[in-house]
Amino acid sequence: MTAFEIQDAINAIYVVAVLVFILGLKAMSSPATARRGIVYAGLAMLIAVGVTFFSPGLLTDNFLWIFVGVAVGGFGGWYWARVVKMTAMPQMVAVFNGMGAGSAGAIAAVELLGHIGDLTTSGLSVAGGVIGSISIAASIVAFLKLQGWLTSKPIVLPARQVVNTAVLVIGVALGIYAVIAQETFWLLPFFVLLLLYGVLLALPIGGADMPVVISLTNALTGVAVGLDGFALVNGPLGDAGYAMVIAGVLVGSAGSLLTVLMAKAMNRSIANVFFGAFGATEETGGPVQGQLKPMEAPDVAALMAYANQVIIVPGYGLAVAQAQQKVKELADLLESKGVTVKFAIHPVAGRMPGHMNVLLAEAGISYDKLFDRDEINAEFPATDVAFVIGANDVVNPAAHRQGSPLYGMPILDVEQAKNVIVNKRGQGKGFAGVENELFYRDNCHMLYGDAQSAVGQLVSALKQTE
Ligand code: NDP
Repeated sequence: MTAFEIQDAINAIYVVAVLVFILGLKAMSSPATARRGIVYAGLAMLIAVGVTFFSPGLLTDNFLWIFVGVAVGGFGGWYWARVVKMTAMPQMVAVFNGMGAGSAGAIAAVELLGHIGDLTTSGLSVAGGVIGSISIAASIVAFLKLQGWLTSKPIVLPARQVVNTAVLVIGVALGIYAVIAQETFWLLPFFVLLLLYGVLLALPIGGADMPVVISLTNALTGVAVGLDGFALVNGPLGDAGYAMVIAGVLVGSAGSLLTVLMAKAMNRSIANVFFGAFGATEETGGPVQGQLKPMEAPDVAALMAYANQVIIVPGYGLAVAQAQQKVKELADLLESKGVTVKFAIHPVAGRMPGHMNVLLAEAGISYDKLFDRDEINAEFPATDVAFVIGANDVVNPAAHRQGSPLYGMPILDVEQAKNVIVNKRGQGKGFAGVENELFYRDNCHMLYGDAQSAVGQLVSALKQTE
């Protein structure tokens, strides 16, 4: 086979990989097929990376380094994904995304160092370098915040808009100057300033806006990889660049759609997320009036057993407690007593997009019982019991009140139900750190305890009611 024929065969296999990627993405759009989607995407990546080893232009003296990289990265990713807790997923996504962005930045640096005289390659690499550097730095800050190693509250530096803009403009200008003057010396300050900009951009983002940040950095990484792919197309491994372009475009577009969905779920524009410093304003309106009213499991069980309809609202606490199986038992028991049970799913409940859908699917709860905010909000006034399990921000009526840091966030209007039962362990606030006015309402009672044991007690109590 000639080098051209080998390259044609490789290109055909890239097309197969791309099709499998697309099938994977399609399967990920439903919780029922999401696992299959992940397997497809992994397989597509394996095919694309594997076939690249046969590229005629590949420098064989680099093979050892490539294998070391694949082995370290592959083992690290496999091990971490196995041991990570579901609730720590966002941190892991932030780190993995950061690594993708870092790789895109590194490819851009290599291309710039090797081809600074080629205007097309270096121009594309500057763009890839800008986006990749911002994305890796912002992803690391997001990881530190989600892991609790950095406060999740906004860190607002003085004159930040001016400083941030100056850092960005000078950084980009240095990259452009390096290309025009063909002086690689300026690449170092270029990358340093863009990394700094990524940090400065993410520091003021706090509280409930993290879902938007995670999905946006993901989209940016895709764009950076796509731009690098275009830059590579000019080099000896040109056709491998096309595979990167397609993978980058897929990640970039899927990530952008997710970003729009998450921003919509928070009722915020992307600009507001990044420049509005969510939660930086102190709460106004004084301390919450009323008192917390505990209720014991047998009383809650009786209330539910005689209800016509119970709406269960899962949140982060349910995920931490891994209470999904108990919740399924509870729902089955109530249904066996003639109670209609529905689940209200807020798009940012938990700690990652789709978190609650995945958990409930894992427990075998059928999808036709899951309703999103728009579908279910109108049903709360006619509902006998809204049972909130480990959710807080997504049901906080403060979101309707001007002056609250949560103002404007669309929530599940559980307070309109005839009775509201909230299960949580104590007085802990939600992720946004805002006091929840719902808990003090007259129609609201607290079922204290870890979600798994509290729902377990409810199940036992229900089994004893006739
Ligand atoms: P919150 O984080 O607002 O509240 C969770 C509540 O669960 C806490 O008040 C806590 O109270 C309680 N809790 C904790 N552990 C347990 C347990 N073992 N058993 C019972 N209760 C428990 O959760 P929500 O789901 O309402 O909101 C999600 C928040 O996270 C939003 O602000 C969202 O923006 C943010 N976020 C979402 C992401 C996403 O993509 N979905 C990503 C990153 C952030 P107590 O300590 O008293 O038990």
